[in-house]
Amino acid sequence: MSAIVAIVGRPNVGKSTLFNRLIQRREAIVDAVSGVTRDRHYGKSDWNGKEFSVIDTGGYVIGSDDVFEKEIDKQVELAIDEADAIIFMVDVETGVTGMDEDVAKLLRKVKKPVFLAINKVDNAKRAEDAVEFYSLGLGEYYTLSSINGGGTGDLLDALVKEL
Ligand code: GDP
Ligand code: MG
Repeated sequence: MSAIVAIVGRPNVGKSTLFNRLIQRREAIVDAVSGVTRDRHYGKSDWNGKEFSVIDTGGYVIGSDDVFEKEIDKQVELAIDEADAIIFMVDVETGVTGMDEDVAKLLRKVKKPVFLAINKVDNAKRAEDAVEFYSLGLGEYYTLSSINGGGTGDLLDALVKEL
């Protein structure tokens, strides 16, 4: 069985954008009827010849902030149980939020590889802003612009080394 990589993080940071990019080459499935890409949450990917499965968490979260928080806790716990490695995604446009801090607190206890991925780093100014995420206490991070693919290669290089 191939290793499992879970993408966790609060809503709107760009988890599904990264997920779709990772599985695109092999598994993008366009619905024959509607013509739109189906919303998938599990997919296969590979990098440098290493195959792995990817879980996009949080696809069904709706409701109040309270519901969000509970749901995110559940996702993270599931990821901790089932995944071999975790991509924790945050968003430099919004900056560090309370929810990010809560997730970081859970992940700091995890004995599995955790990759802090700061998304929406679309330009050099935002790369400077990314330093504020050191406050999460997770150490080094990877900056991404998932919307155009920036930074994903460095993240994947590091990730597959741990699988
Ligand atoms: P999710 O809720 O974490 O799955 O986030 P989505 O993947 O649905 O993305 C939320 C929003 O952020 C969408 O409008 C995306 O187009 C946007 N987004 C995702 N990645 C990037 C990025 O790298 N840069 C910018 N500027 N926007 C992004
Ligand atoms: Mg999503």
